[in-house]
Amino acid sequence: MTPQLASRHSIDATLELSDTAERTWDVVVVGAGPAGALAARQAARLGAAVLLIDKAFFPRWKVCGCCLNAAALSVLEFVGLEELPARAGAKPLERIRLAAGKRAAVCRLPGGVSLSREAFDTALVEAALSAGAHFLPHTEATLRSVDAATFRTLDLRREHQTIAVRSRVVLAADGLSGRLASNEPDLQTSVSRTSRLGAGAVLEDDSGYFGDGVIYMASGRGGYVGLVRLEDGRLDVAAALDREAVRRSGGPGRLAASVLSQAGFPVPAGIEEAAWRGTPPLTRRPARLYSERLMVLGDAAGYVEPFTGEGMAWALAGAASIAPLAVSGAETWSPEVGLAWEQLHHCMIVRRQFACRWVSRLLRRPTLCAAAVTALRAAPQLASPLIHAINRPFAALSRVTPIHQGVKS
Ligand SMILES: Cc1cc2nc3c(=O)[nH]c(=O)nc-3n(C[C@H](O)[C@H](O)[C@H](O)COP(=O)(O)OP(=O)(O)OC[C@H]3O[C@@H](n4cnc5c(N)ncnc54)[C@H](O)[C@@H]3O)c2cc1C
Repeated sequence: MTPQLASRHSIDATLELSDTAERTWDVVVVGAGPAGALAARQAARLGAAVLLIDKAFFPRWKVCGCCLNAAALSVLEFVGLEELPARAGAKPLERIRLAAGKRAAVCRLPGGVSLSREAFDTALVEAALSAGAHFLPHTEATLRSVDAATFRTLDLRREHQTIAVRSRVVLAADGLSGRLASNEPDLQTSVSRTSRLGAGAVLEDDSGYFGDGVIYMASGRGGYVGLVRLEDGRLDVAAALDREAVRRSGGPGRLAASVLSQAGFPVPAGIEEAAWRGTPPLTRRPARLYSERLMVLGDAAGYVEPFTGEGMAWALAGAASIAPLAVSGAETWSPEVGLAWEQLHHCMIVRRQFACRWVSRLLRRPTLCAAAVTALRAAPQLASPLIHAINRPFAALSRVTPIHQGVKS
């Protein structure tokens, strides 16, 4: 039965664009994905005046494998939102089926759920609003160069209207293609030359092969493709694909179909004609994560190819830990606040990204990949150390003030 989705209705702006200029905000968060929405919620719970902005209308779709792993769920538990995925209709994930070179292996997962990004991101924005944050959807932000000592100025554009807004601290959670911090000295992003592109589509597949509770992951020449059944029965398809191979095969749908068939999975009907959307090159890192009264988080703070499905866990962990820093930076800003964020991000997230980098290198060698699947078929427990490393809770979160216990009455 299709679950009732609590969060499928659109979310309205909580104030008029013109009203945003009447005060100096403590924290303006640009981008209402998992990183931005949770950071806004946590900062609002600490008593800050928070404005959350996104250029999209919500619910909005996003290229993603739509799998929240056990580490992501542990962050939601840490902030007191452990019931949010189930309330939004999430389906438990039990296994991952890996396939390459027509060989397949099945490994058990230690928890995790599948949930569409429309439902998950919307539920997180609603949690931010319940905590007292304001929200402006369909509004694009740009950041001016530093023009005052005590705040930063952003230009917010909605339809034909633009307004200047002041904030003591700005959080850039604007994702992979975000440009908010692109003019900041020292915050230039370097993109890996060999990086793959992300691509995704949602299918109305009723073939019966791709069942609930399983992540299907196929690797082949040109990239890898993941499929998962969503809470409403649709089939989410997400892929990391070589740029040149996409061009040669005539588009992401065709290349995804080829990768699935090389791996030995059935090709879902309609995959080639589906409305595929792409991302910029995936593997990237900005030189720094802060400048004057500005901090960067989520995918905007650096990303690696997504085979291990950890991006949302990194985004949520970053959001939970940056909020107290943002609030104290709004009271008194100093470069030490930004430096503390950079160090926390390094020890909590950058170190975990090593495993993901290592796996994405293996995936570029189809023969090695097929050999690894053969080994896993004989001994699935060989994957346990990696699965454990990816799913373990973020130890550094214990150093973050547990603000979910309620600061604001
Ligand atoms: C192919 C693929 C598969 C993936 N699969 C998984 C998976 O299964 N599990 C997992 O955990 N992760 C997965 N990820 C990673 C995950 O999607 C990201 O890590 C996650 O979305 C990061 O969240 P975020 O909040 O940083 O950015 P986003 O979710 O991208 O949100 C950024 C927001 O900023 C807004 N924005 C940008 N610029 C502006 C502006 N100037 N003004 C206003 N708004 C702006 C955008 O509209 C957007 O809503 C996958 C990624 C890809 C590409």
